[in-house]
This record gives sequence, C-alpha cells and structure tokens, in this order.
Amino acid sequence: MGAYTSSKDIFLPLNSYFSTHYLNILLNLVFLKLIFRNNIMRENDELITRGDSRSFIESFIEKDLKDGKNNNKIHTRFPPEPNGYLHIGHAKAICLNFGMASKFGGKCNLRFDDTNPVKEDVEYVDSIKEDIRWLGFDWEDREFYASDYFGKLFDFAVDLIKKGLAYVDDQPADVISEQKGTPTQSGQESPFKGRSVDENLDLFKRMNTSEFEEGSRVLRAKVDMASPNMHMRDPIIYRIIKTPHHRTGNTWMVYPMYDFAHGQSDYFEGVTHSLCTLEFEVHRPLYDWFIDQLKTNDYRPRQIEFNRLNLTYTVMSKRKLLELVREGNVSGWDDPRMPTLCGLRRRGYTPESIKRFVNLIGYTKVEAINDVSLLEHAVREDLNLKAPRVFGVLNPLKVIISNYPGDKVENVDLINNPEDESMGSRKVTFCNEVFIEQEDFMESPPNKFFRLAPGMEVRLKGAYIIKCEGFKKNEKTGAIEEVYCTYDPQTRSGEHGSEKKVKGTLHWVSARHAVDAEVRLYDRLFNHEDPSGQKDEDYRKFLNPDSLKILKGCKLEPSLKSAKHLEKFQFQRLGYFCVDYDSTESALVFNRTVQLKDTWSKINKV
Ligand code: ATP
Ligand code: MG
Repeated sequence: MGAYTSSKDIFLPLNSYFSTHYLNILLNLVFLKLIFRNNIMRENDELITRGDSRSFIESFIEKDLKDGKNNNKIHTRFPPEPNGYLHIGHAKAICLNFGMASKFGGKCNLRFDDTNPVKEDVEYVDSIKEDIRWLGFDWEDREFYASDYFGKLFDFAVDLIKKGLAYVDDQPADVISEQKGTPTQSGQESPFKGRSVDENLDLFKRMNTSEFEEGSRVLRAKVDMASPNMHMRDPIIYRIIKTPHHRTGNTWMVYPMYDFAHGQSDYFEGVTHSLCTLEFEVHRPLYDWFIDQLKTNDYRPRQIEFNRLNLTYTVMSKRKLLELVREGNVSGWDDPRMPTLCGLRRRGYTPESIKRFVNLIGYTKVEAINDVSLLEHAVREDLNLKAPRVFGVLNPLKVIISNYPGDKVENVDLINNPEDESMGSRKVTFCNEVFIEQEDFMESPPNKFFRLAPGMEVRLKGAYIIKCEGFKKNEKTGAIEEVYCTYDPQTRSGEHGSEKKVKGTLHWVSARHAVDAEVRLYDRLFNHEDPSGQKDEDYRKFLNPDSLKILKGCKLEPSLKSAKHLEKFQFQRLGYFCVDYDSTESALVFNRTVQLKDTWSKINKV
C-alpha cells in the first residue's frame, strides 16, 4: 500500500492502473532477461531469422502441410515422464502441442514416457491428467504410455540385432562412458562389438529373464564411435532394471532408454511433429537414425525444438522440486510457492492467466530466463476482470466513531467489480466500530500522508467521512490500540453532501460483523534471480526465509464466510486472494495470489 494523493487514486480500477503503468509492463517484456546460453541457428532454421520467432514452429508446420508431408496431417503429443508433478514449464509445452494440433485441425496425444520404473509412480500419472484438464486441454481417448510399446520396442531391438545394428555389451556403465571419448576425440570401440548375431540374440533375450544382475549388461545400437555427435557413439538402448513397473509389473527385466522409446513411440502413434525442448536438439540425429531403421513408407515424424521456460527466483527441475518437497522446505507439491501447476492453482492462478503468460513469452530457439513479474502481471490482468472486490483488513486497528449511535447499523452499497457491471453490487454493514489497517493511521504523519492522523479526515469507502479526534496508545509498547473519530452524517457516499472532498479513502470492515481469517502472504521462494545457475552454490542456499508470512486474526467482510475453496477476490488496496483448501466456514484461510502492484522490483532496486 502506498500513500495516495487523492481519494480517487486509491480505488482506481486496475485498468487505469495498467494504463499508467503500461510502460512498466512493456519494459517488463523487454527485460525478459535473455541469458544467451547457446544461440543455435542452423540452416534449416532459416525461418526463425525472418523475425517471427514466436511462430517459427507454426511456420514449419505450415510448410510441411504445404509440401504435402505425411498426407497433410498434423499430429502432436505431450510426453510427460510420470516422475513428478507438472510445472509451469510443462504448461508451455502443453499449450504448444495442444495449441498447434487445434490450430491446424490435427490431434494431440497424451503419452506417458514411463520407461524408468525406479522413479515413476501412478500418483504422478493422476496428477498430470488433472493438471492438463485444468488447463483446459483434452486428449480424448488418446491416452498412451511408452510401456504400451514395450513389446514392439523389444521386437525392434531384436530386428536391429538381426541386421547387425545392435550388440550386447558386458562392460559396466562407467567403462562404456569412458570409452565414449570427448567431442573432439573419437570414442573407443567396445571389445564386445564383434559378437555374432546369434550370441547377441541369445544374450539380449536372457537379459530379459532374472538371470543377469542390473548393470551387468546393456544393449547398444551400432552407430558410429567416431561421430562428432556423442549421442551417435553406440548409444545404450536397453538396460536391466528389476524394480516392478507401475503398469507392466514384472513382465520386463529390460527397459528401453528414453532415446530408444521416444521417437519410436511417436512413430507408432502416427505423430507428425515431435515438439520438444532445446536440449534434445543434439539427440535429433539419433531420433532420425532410429526412424530410418523403422520406417516402411514415406511417413516420418519430425522433431522440432523450442526453448524451455525458466523463471527468475524459481527452480524448475522436477528433481529439485522433489527435493524441496522431501526435505520439507515447502508443504508439498501444491505449496502455493511452488511453480507446479497444482501450486499455482492453490495460490489462485487461473488457467487463463497461465496461458496468457505462455503466449506473452512465445517460443524461440534461445534459452532464456523469463521474469516472474510477467507471470504475476498475467494473473493480475486476468483477475482484474474476474475477481469481485471485497474489504479485508490484514492488520486491524479499531476505530470508534463516537457520534454514531451504538445501536445503529446501516448497509452501504458497494460495486463488486468496476470492470464488469454485470457483477452487480453488494451490501456491507456499517456501524460505530470499524477496523482499518494499522498502517492507515499515524500519530505524527509526514507531509502527504493522506490517511488517518489526529485532526485529519478520510472517507471510509462507500460510507462516511470521519475525522480523527484522538487515540489510545500503549505506553509501554508504543502500539496504537484504538482510534477515536467522529463522522459527518451529511457525507454518506452517493447521497447529497457526499461531494465533500477529502484526500484519502480507506477500506474498512465493521468490527461487530467482521469474520476472522488466517491470511497467508507468499513471497518468492528464492531470493536469488537464478538460484540453480550459481556455480558451486547449492540452490537451497538461496531459499528465501521470508517466503511465507502467516497473519492470524485478519478481519474480513462477512460475505466471505461462505466462500468456496479456490474462490478468488480482490481485497481492495491489497491484492488478489483466494480461499485455501485448509479453509472451513469456522476457520477461514486465504492465500495471497499477488499484490496489486509489483513491489518486488522496487524493493530490490533500493
Ligand atoms: P524436468 O527437467 O523438470 O525433470 P523433463 O523434461 O524431464 O523436466 P518431462 O516430463 O520429460 O520432464 O517433460 C515433458 C515435456 O515437457 C517434454 O516434452 C519437455 O520437453 C517439456 N518440458 C519440460 N520442462 C519444460 C520447460 N521448463 N519448458 C518447456 N517445456 C518443458
Ligand atoms: Mg524428460
């Protein structure tokens, strides 16, 4: 809350706020802190350089359709590994895959990349589906699993062996990795590369029984140990894992590696455009190599890469998010400080705000970190239109209006949303005792403090102008305990006489009618812009100790008593808030989604 220069300013509808702060927002966009890690431009990416990088994927797809590729079909997929909850980075991939399919009249599959039973769990499968639905996307009956193809993949591996394109290697993983060489130095051939087809077939089949230990043997594709691309140096395609799989149980003892499962699953499903993040660019030649071995006609899926979403003051890797949960640094995957979709939902984000943000940042070929303020901007914009305005006092200070009859109660009319007339108005009860924010009163105010102070007048929004006549102070602590005022009966809002001007307008709640609530104020979980990017420093070192502040005994207008979980409101002058899952009618709990203004960037500049 800042000091306001006129009563009008205080209750400015947010769109006016946005017009005055329009420049700020544009700057935000420009400030998308582009940290150029690897600026990869290649020949076939010439479309990117035409200046429409946000839609380069669209341009590729349009061109493929124009060239009549894959019978003019477009089919995409979103391929999460069920080893954690989805985060906002995944939302970017979801919007792209479902968005492109819908734009070009195609389809998008949901495919779980469940090739590692050690890390995967059905809990994650369920949460992933819930989150995608929440975002508003529908995979209809196309819910697939890489594990659906374990049989076909095994057969394909057998085919490769028969063609002399795969071999069983008995060396341990660290030796294989040592022999891989470096980007500038060729790898070393494995001593097992020369095995006969029959021996390879026999060993591979036995790998799929319980005979061999985990790690004792792997199957490798025979590609090229001298390739400049390390991924082409006889990559491992199958390993032994004895942990039961959440879908296939103990059927398999060998599991395909990601690279061996992913492209082939695309192929089996008739996917035409395999849209994935930039780190897979170097995997693309291998993706194509496998498809070359597999394809029987003109159809082939095409991999296109785009930049990951990274956010300032946030970690985005599932491994780190899991650590935060396991180590108790947050209350769970849906802690409102987490960048997970369930966390954002609990915080009060809407699917529309997330999609709006994803649209704003677009898709490019350069790794970048996006400013989290832009995400906050997106949710403010969305909630500005949707959230009803209410009064809530977070740090209450009692004001007693001495000339207002003690037994009198009035209902004043307040508009629910100046942005949307159809949201109507509500009655708020007023009486001789109200709560205002502690910080709206000062015993000895500086100049330009247009709130309440001895001798000063303010308007209580929607009600009357009051004048401060005195106050009670705790002499020991210095805390102000009560403020005494008189009101001017001629100044009721909307009535003759209400034109009288005062410089400040305050929100308030009737002390006798208010309901109590706990309010959870969230701040950024990390106090470093790039917590994961600091060499030799663990990201946990940058956890913000003040990322959660719990206020008890907050006073809210009584209409909020029956608010439902996740219902969203603008507490006027304070920010957007939503009802937490922990809330009950007798013990209300609200989460602050975001403040009305971006205070963080200002504070940080001081
Ligand atoms: P993490 O590194 O967080 O564990 P991941 O890439 O292993 O993520 P997957 O479940 O494999 O997670 O991701 C599913 C899809 O979502 C992939 O296509 C991946 O490229 C995409 N994706 C994951 N993280 C991001 C991100 N930060 N931005 C954009 N897309 C992402
Ligand atoms: Mg992955």
